[in-house]
Amino acid sequence: MTTKNFYDIAIIGAGPAGLTAGIYAARAGLKCAIVEKAAVGGLATTTSNVENYPGIKQTDGFSLCYAMMEQCAAVGAEFVFDAATAIIDGSPKTLKLSSGGELTCKAVIITAGASPKKLGAEDEEGYVGKGISYCATCDGAFFKGKTVAVVGGGNTAVEDALYLEKLASKVYLIHRRDELRAEKYLAEKLSQSAVTPIWNSVVTELRGDDKLTEIILKDVKNGTSTSLSVDGVFVAIGQTPNSDIFDGIELDAGGYIVTDECMRTSKDGIFAAGDIRSKSLRQIVTACADGAIAADTAAKSLL
Ligand SMILES: Cc1cc2nc3c(=O)[nH]c(=O)nc-3n(C[C@H](O)[C@H](O)[C@H](O)COP(=O)(O)OP(=O)(O)OC[C@H]3O[C@@H](n4cnc5c(N)ncnc54)[C@H](O)[C@@H]3O)c2cc1C
Repeated sequence: MTTKNFYDIAIIGAGPAGLTAGIYAARAGLKCAIVEKAAVGGLATTTSNVENYPGIKQTDGFSLCYAMMEQCAAVGAEFVFDAATAIIDGSPKTLKLSSGGELTCKAVIITAGASPKKLGAEDEEGYVGKGISYCATCDGAFFKGKTVAVVGGGNTAVEDALYLEKLASKVYLIHRRDELRAEKYLAEKLSQSAVTPIWNSVVTELRGDDKLTEIILKDVKNGTSTSLSVDGVFVAIGQTPNSDIFDGIELDAGGYIVTDECMRTSKDGIFAAGDIRSKSLRQIVTACADGAIAADTAAKSLL
Protein backbone atom coordinates (compact mmCIF):
# COMPACT_ATOMS: atom_id res chain seq x y z
CA MET A 1 0.00 0.00 0.00
CA THR A 2 1.43 3.40 -0.96
CA THR A 3 0.53 6.30 1.32
CA LYS A 4 -0.20 8.34 -1.84
CA ASN A 5 -3.22 6.17 -2.52
CA PHE A 6 -4.37 5.93 1.07
CA TYR A 7 -7.29 8.15 2.07
CA ASP A 8 -9.46 8.60 5.12
CA ILE A 9 -12.52 8.77 2.89
CA ALA A 10 -13.09 7.81 -0.75
CA ILE A 11 -16.19 9.29 -2.38
CA ILE A 12 -17.56 7.62 -5.51
CA GLY A 13 -19.13 10.19 -7.84
CA ALA A 14 -18.62 13.95 -8.21
CA GLY A 15 -22.24 15.09 -8.53
CA PRO A 16 -23.77 17.50 -5.99
CA ALA A 17 -23.82 14.80 -3.26
CA GLY A 18 -20.18 13.79 -3.77
CA LEU A 19 -18.93 17.36 -4.04
CA THR A 20 -20.72 18.38 -0.85
CA ALA A 21 -19.41 15.29 0.94
CA GLY A 22 -15.93 16.32 -0.27
CA ILE A 23 -16.29 19.84 1.13
CA TYR A 24 -17.43 18.56 4.54
CA ALA A 25 -14.84 15.74 4.72
CA ALA A 26 -11.92 17.96 3.72
CA ARG A 27 -13.03 20.74 6.09
CA ALA A 28 -13.10 18.13 8.88
CA GLY A 29 -9.37 17.67 8.22
CA LEU A 30 -9.74 14.32 6.46
CA LYS A 31 -7.72 13.22 3.44
CA CYS A 32 -10.34 12.52 0.87
CA ALA A 33 -10.52 11.47 -2.77
CA ILE A 34 -13.49 11.97 -5.06
CA VAL A 35 -13.51 9.34 -7.81
CA GLU A 36 -15.42 10.43 -10.93
CA LYS A 37 -15.82 8.38 -14.09
CA ALA A 38 -17.17 11.15 -16.34
CA ALA A 39 -17.58 14.89 -15.82
CA VAL A 40 -17.70 16.70 -12.49
CA GLY A 41 -21.24 17.81 -11.64
CA GLY A 42 -23.13 14.63 -12.56
CA LEU A 43 -26.75 14.75 -13.67
CA ALA A 44 -27.15 18.37 -12.59
CA THR A 45 -24.95 19.50 -15.48
CA THR A 46 -27.61 18.27 -17.92
CA THR A 47 -29.92 21.12 -16.98
CA SER A 48 -29.42 24.65 -18.25
CA ASN A 49 -31.85 26.18 -15.80
CA VAL A 50 -31.93 25.66 -12.03
CA GLU A 51 -34.40 27.86 -10.16
CA ASN A 52 -34.92 25.90 -6.96
CA TYR A 53 -31.52 25.88 -5.27
CA PRO A 54 -31.98 28.09 -2.19
CA GLY A 55 -30.11 31.38 -2.23
CA ILE A 56 -29.56 31.37 -5.98
CA LYS A 57 -32.54 32.70 -7.94
CA GLN A 58 -31.43 31.28 -11.25
CA THR A 59 -28.38 29.46 -12.53
CA ASP A 60 -27.46 26.54 -14.73
CA GLY A 61 -26.44 23.12 -13.42
CA PHE A 62 -22.90 23.33 -14.80
CA SER A 63 -22.09 26.71 -13.15
CA LEU A 64 -23.53 25.59 -9.82
CA CYS A 65 -21.52 22.35 -9.80
CA TYR A 66 -18.37 24.05 -11.08
CA ALA A 67 -18.55 26.38 -8.08
CA MET A 68 -19.00 23.34 -5.80
CA MET A 69 -15.96 21.69 -7.43
CA GLU A 70 -13.79 24.81 -6.94
CA GLN A 71 -14.87 25.01 -3.30
CA CYS A 72 -14.10 21.33 -2.87
CA ALA A 73 -10.62 21.61 -4.39
CA ALA A 74 -9.91 24.79 -2.37
CA VAL A 75 -10.44 22.95 0.92
CA GLY A 76 -8.16 20.11 -0.16
CA ALA A 77 -10.29 17.30 -1.60
CA GLU A 78 -8.50 15.42 -4.38
CA PHE A 79 -10.11 14.35 -7.65
CA VAL A 80 -9.36 10.98 -9.25
CA PHE A 81 -10.79 10.67 -12.76
CA ASP A 82 -11.55 6.96 -13.07
CA ALA A 83 -14.51 4.61 -12.63
CA ALA A 84 -14.87 2.68 -9.39
CA THR A 85 -15.59 -0.94 -10.26
CA ALA A 86 -15.79 -2.56 -6.81
CA ILE A 87 -15.37 -1.97 -3.11
CA ILE A 88 -13.39 -4.68 -1.34
CA ASP A 89 -14.62 -4.56 2.23
CA GLY A 90 -12.19 -4.82 5.13
CA SER A 91 -10.05 -2.61 7.24
CA PRO A 92 -8.88 -0.65 5.33
CA LYS A 93 -11.25 -0.85 2.37
CA THR A 94 -10.00 -1.05 -1.21
CA LEU A 95 -11.61 0.68 -4.15
CA LYS A 96 -10.93 -1.03 -7.46
CA LEU A 97 -10.67 1.30 -10.44
CA SER A 98 -11.35 0.58 -14.12
CA SER A 99 -7.83 1.74 -15.07
CA GLY A 100 -6.52 -1.25 -13.11
CA GLY A 101 -5.41 0.92 -10.19
CA GLU A 102 -6.85 0.94 -6.71
CA LEU A 103 -6.99 3.15 -3.69
CA THR A 104 -7.40 2.29 -0.05
CA CYS A 105 -9.39 4.14 2.54
CA LYS A 106 -10.95 3.91 5.97
CA ALA A 107 -14.49 4.75 4.79
CA VAL A 108 -16.38 5.00 1.50
CA ILE A 109 -19.25 7.33 0.58
CA ILE A 110 -21.19 6.17 -2.47
CA THR A 111 -22.67 9.10 -4.41
CA ALA A 112 -22.90 7.47 -7.84
CA GLY A 113 -26.40 8.78 -8.65
CA ALA A 114 -29.08 7.34 -10.88
CA SER A 115 -29.81 7.66 -14.59
CA PRO A 116 -33.31 8.41 -15.90
CA LYS A 117 -34.67 5.79 -18.33
CA LYS A 118 -35.09 7.14 -21.83
CA LEU A 119 -38.08 6.90 -24.17
CA GLY A 120 -35.89 5.46 -26.89
CA ALA A 121 -37.38 7.80 -29.53
CA GLU A 122 -35.13 9.08 -32.29
CA ASP A 123 -33.56 12.50 -31.58
CA GLU A 124 -34.56 12.30 -27.89
CA GLU A 125 -31.15 13.66 -26.87
CA GLY A 126 -31.58 16.63 -29.21
CA TYR A 127 -34.79 17.74 -27.51
CA VAL A 128 -33.53 17.51 -23.91
CA GLY A 129 -34.03 21.01 -22.47
CA LYS A 130 -36.06 21.91 -25.58
CA GLY A 131 -39.24 20.09 -24.64
CA ILE A 132 -38.07 16.76 -23.23
CA SER A 133 -37.59 16.58 -19.47
CA TYR A 134 -36.99 13.76 -17.02
CA CYS A 135 -37.90 15.79 -13.93
CA ALA A 136 -41.28 17.49 -13.41
CA THR A 137 -40.25 19.04 -10.07
CA CYS A 138 -37.24 20.61 -11.78
CA ASP A 139 -38.72 21.76 -15.08
CA GLY A 140 -42.50 21.99 -14.55
CA ALA A 141 -42.39 25.75 -13.91
CA PHE A 142 -41.01 26.34 -17.41
CA PHE A 143 -44.28 25.01 -18.88
CA LYS A 144 -46.74 27.38 -17.17
CA GLY A 145 -49.83 27.77 -19.35
CA LYS A 146 -48.52 25.26 -21.92
CA THR A 147 -49.58 21.82 -23.14
CA VAL A 148 -47.57 18.90 -21.80
CA ALA A 149 -47.63 15.12 -21.80
CA VAL A 150 -46.32 12.81 -19.09
CA VAL A 151 -45.19 9.35 -20.20
CA GLY A 152 -45.52 6.49 -17.71
CA GLY A 153 -48.04 4.66 -15.58
CA GLY A 154 -46.43 4.34 -12.15
CA ASN A 155 -46.62 6.51 -9.04
CA THR A 156 -44.07 9.03 -10.32
CA ALA A 157 -45.88 9.52 -13.64
CA VAL A 158 -49.23 10.10 -11.91
CA GLU A 159 -47.70 12.41 -9.30
CA ASP A 160 -45.95 14.34 -12.07
CA ALA A 161 -49.19 14.67 -14.06
CA LEU A 162 -51.06 15.95 -10.99
CA TYR A 163 -48.21 18.34 -10.17
CA LEU A 164 -48.12 19.67 -13.74
CA GLU A 165 -51.90 20.08 -13.84
CA LYS A 166 -51.48 23.07 -11.50
CA LEU A 167 -49.03 24.72 -13.88
CA ALA A 168 -49.83 23.71 -17.45
CA SER A 169 -53.00 24.56 -19.38
CA LYS A 170 -53.39 20.96 -20.56
CA VAL A 171 -51.83 17.70 -19.34
CA TYR A 172 -51.96 14.31 -21.05
CA LEU A 173 -50.81 11.08 -19.42
CA ILE A 174 -49.57 8.57 -21.97
CA HIS A 175 -49.36 4.96 -20.83
CA ARG A 176 -48.57 1.82 -22.82
CA ARG A 177 -51.15 -0.24 -20.94
CA ASP A 178 -54.89 0.22 -20.33
CA GLU A 179 -54.50 0.59 -16.57
CA LEU A 180 -52.07 2.31 -14.24
CA ARG A 181 -49.39 0.63 -12.13
CA ALA A 182 -49.71 3.52 -9.66
CA GLU A 183 -51.26 3.03 -6.24
CA LYS A 184 -55.07 3.13 -6.08
CA TYR A 185 -55.35 6.46 -4.25
CA LEU A 186 -53.24 8.12 -6.94
CA ALA A 187 -55.28 6.52 -9.73
CA GLU A 188 -58.42 7.87 -8.06
CA LYS A 189 -56.93 11.35 -7.75
CA LEU A 190 -56.02 11.23 -11.42
CA SER A 191 -59.53 10.20 -12.44
CA GLN A 192 -60.91 13.21 -10.55
CA SER A 193 -58.41 15.60 -12.17
CA ALA A 194 -58.42 17.37 -15.53
CA VAL A 195 -55.52 15.20 -16.78
CA THR A 196 -56.44 13.34 -19.99
CA PRO A 197 -55.12 9.78 -20.09
CA ILE A 198 -54.11 8.27 -23.42
CA TRP A 199 -54.07 4.48 -22.97
CA ASN A 200 -52.27 1.71 -24.87
CA SER A 201 -49.92 4.18 -26.50
CA VAL A 202 -46.20 4.72 -26.89
CA VAL A 203 -44.27 7.72 -28.20
CA THR A 204 -42.53 6.74 -31.43
CA GLU A 205 -41.39 10.07 -32.80
CA LEU A 206 -40.56 13.60 -31.63
CA ARG A 207 -41.06 16.51 -34.01
CA GLY A 208 -40.30 20.23 -34.00
CA ASP A 209 -37.68 22.68 -35.15
CA ASP A 210 -35.66 24.32 -32.44
CA LYS A 211 -38.17 23.17 -29.82
CA LEU A 212 -40.49 20.19 -29.52
CA THR A 213 -43.97 20.90 -30.94
CA GLU A 214 -45.47 17.50 -31.77
CA ILE A 215 -45.20 13.83 -30.84
CA ILE A 216 -46.31 10.78 -32.78
CA LEU A 217 -48.12 8.13 -30.74
CA LYS A 218 -48.58 4.52 -31.74
CA ASP A 219 -51.56 2.56 -30.43
CA VAL A 220 -50.00 -0.72 -29.31
CA LYS A 221 -53.32 -2.59 -29.77
CA ASN A 222 -54.24 -1.63 -33.34
CA GLY A 223 -50.92 -0.22 -34.62
CA THR A 224 -52.38 3.12 -35.76
CA SER A 225 -50.36 6.31 -35.38
CA THR A 226 -51.67 9.74 -34.34
CA SER A 227 -50.11 13.12 -33.82
CA LEU A 228 -50.37 15.17 -30.61
CA SER A 229 -49.35 18.83 -30.35
CA VAL A 230 -47.35 19.44 -27.15
CA ASP A 231 -44.84 21.94 -25.79
CA GLY A 232 -43.25 19.45 -23.45
CA VAL A 233 -42.95 15.76 -22.64
CA PHE A 234 -42.06 14.58 -19.14
CA VAL A 235 -40.58 11.11 -19.22
CA ALA A 236 -41.46 9.26 -15.99
CA ILE A 237 -40.74 5.64 -16.82
CA GLY A 238 -38.23 5.11 -14.05
CA GLN A 239 -34.60 5.56 -13.17
CA THR A 240 -31.72 3.15 -13.04
CA PRO A 241 -29.63 3.62 -9.88
CA ASN A 242 -25.91 3.19 -10.54
CA SER A 243 -25.69 0.61 -7.76
CA ASP A 244 -24.83 -2.55 -9.71
CA ILE A 245 -21.18 -2.62 -8.65
CA PHE A 246 -21.85 -2.49 -4.91
CA ASP A 247 -22.08 -6.16 -3.94
CA GLY A 248 -23.62 -7.09 -0.63
CA ILE A 249 -25.06 -3.67 0.25
CA GLU A 250 -28.79 -3.70 1.00
CA LEU A 251 -30.89 -2.25 -1.84
CA ASP A 252 -34.61 -1.54 -2.02
CA ALA A 253 -36.88 -3.14 -4.65
CA GLY A 254 -35.89 -0.45 -7.17
CA GLY A 255 -32.16 -1.06 -6.68
CA TYR A 256 -31.56 2.09 -4.59
CA ILE A 257 -29.21 1.85 -1.59
CA VAL A 258 -31.01 1.66 1.75
CA THR A 259 -29.55 3.96 4.43
CA ASP A 260 -30.54 5.22 7.84
CA GLU A 261 -31.00 8.96 8.35
CA CYS A 262 -27.27 9.34 9.02
CA MET A 263 -26.56 7.83 5.55
CA ARG A 264 -25.13 4.56 6.94
CA THR A 265 -25.65 1.60 4.59
CA SER A 266 -25.97 -2.03 5.71
CA LYS A 267 -22.14 -2.29 5.64
CA ASP A 268 -19.91 -0.78 8.32
CA GLY A 269 -17.86 2.16 7.07
CA ILE A 270 -19.82 2.43 3.81
CA PHE A 271 -22.20 5.38 3.45
CA ALA A 272 -24.46 6.48 0.60
CA ALA A 273 -25.85 9.90 -0.34
CA GLY A 274 -27.82 11.60 -3.09
CA ASP A 275 -29.96 10.11 -5.86
CA ILE A 276 -28.55 6.60 -5.41
CA ARG A 277 -30.20 6.41 -2.01
CA SER A 278 -33.72 5.10 -1.35
CA LYS A 279 -35.67 8.32 -0.69
CA SER A 280 -38.63 10.40 -1.80
CA LEU A 281 -37.16 13.54 -3.41
CA ARG A 282 -34.19 13.47 -5.78
CA GLN A 283 -32.96 17.04 -6.19
CA ILE A 284 -29.69 18.97 -5.99
CA VAL A 285 -30.53 20.41 -2.58
CA THR A 286 -31.39 16.98 -1.12
CA ALA A 287 -28.27 15.45 -2.68
CA CYS A 288 -26.15 18.17 -1.06
CA ALA A 289 -27.88 17.67 2.29
CA ASP A 290 -27.28 13.90 2.12
CA GLY A 291 -23.62 14.47 1.17
CA ALA A 292 -23.07 16.75 4.17
CA ILE A 293 -24.67 14.24 6.57
CA ALA A 294 -22.75 11.29 5.08
CA ALA A 295 -19.40 13.06 5.43
CA ASP A 296 -20.22 14.15 8.98
CA THR A 297 -21.26 10.62 10.00
CA ALA A 298 -18.21 9.11 8.27
CA ALA A 299 -15.89 11.63 9.96
CA LYS A 300 -17.36 10.88 13.41
CA SER A 301 -17.01 7.13 12.77
CA LEU A 302 -13.26 7.64 12.27
CA LEU A 303 -12.69 9.46 15.57
C1 LIG B 1 -32.91 16.98 -16.88
C2 LIG B 1 -32.75 17.14 -15.40
C3 LIG B 1 -32.96 18.38 -14.84
C4 LIG B 1 -32.82 18.53 -13.46
N1 LIG B 1 -33.04 19.76 -12.93
C5 LIG B 1 -32.93 19.94 -11.60
C6 LIG B 1 -33.21 21.21 -11.02
O1 LIG B 1 -33.58 22.18 -11.70
N2 LIG B 1 -33.09 21.33 -9.67
C7 LIG B 1 -32.73 20.27 -8.87
O2 LIG B 1 -32.63 20.46 -7.66
N3 LIG B 1 -32.47 19.07 -9.40
C8 LIG B 1 -32.57 18.86 -10.73
N4 LIG B 1 -32.35 17.62 -11.27
C9 LIG B 1 -32.00 16.51 -10.36
C10 LIG B 1 -30.51 16.60 -9.97
O3 LIG B 1 -29.71 16.72 -11.13
C11 LIG B 1 -30.11 15.37 -9.18
O4 LIG B 1 -31.00 15.18 -8.10
C12 LIG B 1 -28.68 15.51 -8.63
O5 LIG B 1 -27.76 15.71 -9.67
C13 LIG B 1 -28.29 14.25 -7.84
O6 LIG B 1 -26.98 14.40 -7.40
P1 LIG B 1 -26.06 13.13 -7.04
O7 LIG B 1 -24.76 13.69 -6.66
O8 LIG B 1 -26.79 12.26 -6.09
O9 LIG B 1 -25.97 12.27 -8.37
P2 LIG B 1 -25.45 12.66 -9.84
O10 LIG B 1 -25.63 14.11 -10.10
O11 LIG B 1 -26.14 11.71 -10.74
O12 LIG B 1 -23.90 12.37 -9.80
C14 LIG B 1 -23.41 11.06 -9.75
C15 LIG B 1 -21.99 11.06 -10.29
O13 LIG B 1 -21.40 9.79 -10.06
C16 LIG B 1 -20.63 9.41 -11.17
N5 LIG B 1 -20.48 7.95 -11.14
C17 LIG B 1 -21.46 7.02 -11.30
N6 LIG B 1 -20.95 5.78 -11.16
C18 LIG B 1 -19.62 5.93 -10.92
C19 LIG B 1 -18.55 5.03 -10.72
N7 LIG B 1 -18.75 3.69 -10.70
N8 LIG B 1 -17.30 5.51 -10.53
C20 LIG B 1 -17.09 6.87 -10.53
N9 LIG B 1 -18.07 7.78 -10.74
C21 LIG B 1 -19.32 7.31 -10.92
C22 LIG B 1 -21.43 9.94 -12.36
O14 LIG B 1 -20.63 10.07 -13.52
C23 LIG B 1 -21.93 11.27 -11.81
O15 LIG B 1 -21.04 12.32 -12.10
C24 LIG B 1 -32.46 17.43 -12.64
C25 LIG B 1 -32.24 16.18 -13.23
C26 LIG B 1 -32.38 16.03 -14.58
C27 LIG B 1 -32.15 14.70 -15.21
